[in-house]
Amino acid sequence: MSIISLCEPKYLELKNRLIQIQDLEAAASLLNWDQTTYMPTGGTYARGRQIATLKEFAHQKRTEPIIGKLLEDLRAYEKSLPYDSTEASLIRVTRRDYERAVRVPPEFMAKFSQHQAVSYEAWVKAKSLEDFSIVEPYLEKTLELSRELASFFPYKHIADPLIDFIDEGMTVSILRPLFNQLRQKLRPIVEAITSAPPIDDSCLYQHFSKEEQLKFGYAVIQRIGFDFQRGRQDETPHPFTSSFSIGDVRITTRVYEDNFSEALFSTIHEVGHALYEQGIGLELEGTPLAEGSSSGIHESQSRLWENIVGRSRGFWECFYPQLQGIFLKQLSPVSVSEFYRAINKVARSPIRTDADEVTYNLHVMIRFDLELAMLEGKLDVSDLPEAWNERYKKDLGIFPANDSEGVMQDVHWYGEMIGGMFQGYTLGNLIAAQVYQAAVKYNPEITVAIERGNFTLLHTWLKQNIHQHGRKYTANELIHRVTGKPLSIEPFINYIQDKYSNIYHLKVPLSA
Ligand SMILES: [Zn+2]
Repeated sequence: MSIISLCEPKYLELKNRLIQIQDLEAAASLLNWDQTTYMPTGGTYARGRQIATLKEFAHQKRTEPIIGKLLEDLRAYEKSLPYDSTEASLIRVTRRDYERAVRVPPEFMAKFSQHQAVSYEAWVKAKSLEDFSIVEPYLEKTLELSRELASFFPYKHIADPLIDFIDEGMTVSILRPLFNQLRQKLRPIVEAITSAPPIDDSCLYQHFSKEEQLKFGYAVIQRIGFDFQRGRQDETPHPFTSSFSIGDVRITTRVYEDNFSEALFSTIHEVGHALYEQGIGLELEGTPLAEGSSSGIHESQSRLWENIVGRSRGFWECFYPQLQGIFLKQLSPVSVSEFYRAINKVARSPIRTDADEVTYNLHVMIRFDLELAMLEGKLDVSDLPEAWNERYKKDLGIFPANDSEGVMQDVHWYGEMIGGMFQGYTLGNLIAAQVYQAAVKYNPEITVAIERGNFTLLHTWLKQNIHQHGRKYTANELIHRVTGKPLSIEPFINYIQDKYSNIYHLKVPLSA
């Protein structure tokens, strides 16, 4: 009998077990989606318990010794198959997940998640009172637990295992030099742009009715390719995307009636995530391969649609007449050029999530460096606010008004851990530019098609090259396959230079 026929029943057994685990995870996500959209607040306590119960069952099933035994028995079968076959990929990825999951004692995870919950509560209070000292002891404990979590894994740099959780294959030795280069290139670009006369973006801050904004947004995302037969859109305070299966991918949106940019661009961002999830190959359904490759790759899809496409001149050549038609009073005096400049205004600002695409990465890299310094033992939690403010002064030329606007602005360190929390955002921007460059090189018609409102060329290319593979390849493998090169800052810097020399009418082209 051949290896294949002997192994096939074991492969099927593994796959069936994995599908059950995914079902538990999907049920937990659905409970979470419901909690953040429609659940009455009275359900909060019980819902927290229900989600924890499902997650615990999923974790138990994922770490059962039988999974390890099946993976061991399937080694020869895996070797007999092509690397990119669904079967070999499923075995390979499951082995990595399994080995990672069994290294961390369940008692430790329970202790850590309990601590995360109380630390989050302390952060909410500290942030509202603008008082870092309230959350400081919790953050010290978080640092200790993050270091302990890393210690369950072999590593070169203590942050590597923590980064690996969401950006598999990325390490400090890859990211630190890449980010240093990026910072050096970005600082003078930001300097040149912010020395130019500022853009007047007041046209975006008029009254835009919620109903009309939602209607316009709906038309835009349908045109881009969001499949409403396999997804839906709801409202939440903090937009996110949830996927329960390839046939059910949901986005959420929030609308501000006095700020046009907020709803539309965050909706396009979430659609970028959703197109990825909707585009995963059906043969991967229900398995751990039916997800995005990494946090950086996922973010590359959202940032590509939000910024490179959604904030492009061509996109608005297509959609602006329609938008003007809806908001006649507000936008008839505003030309498409003025509108295009307004949605691309660059400014030094203290808050990461409000930052434009030029300054955004500077915010992220400050956090990345501070995380590393804390994990390395070079920065004490008590000195963190001062270190934060110093870096903001140095990199962005601003000084936060208080710690709520400074070191306490993001939930990540207070509700999750220290390490691996931020690199995905900048990786997303870099990968988006590199991938888009490859797409346009493959088919130069893509940019012209966008001006005509045809997004199918780009969407199909992304689906074929990235989406359909789900989690088969790591980010580094995927970047190589798609662009023929390792990850680099060049496509992003070129994109920023071209776009913003033009928008800011800089006489000398930006050179960094
Ligand atoms: Zn995102």
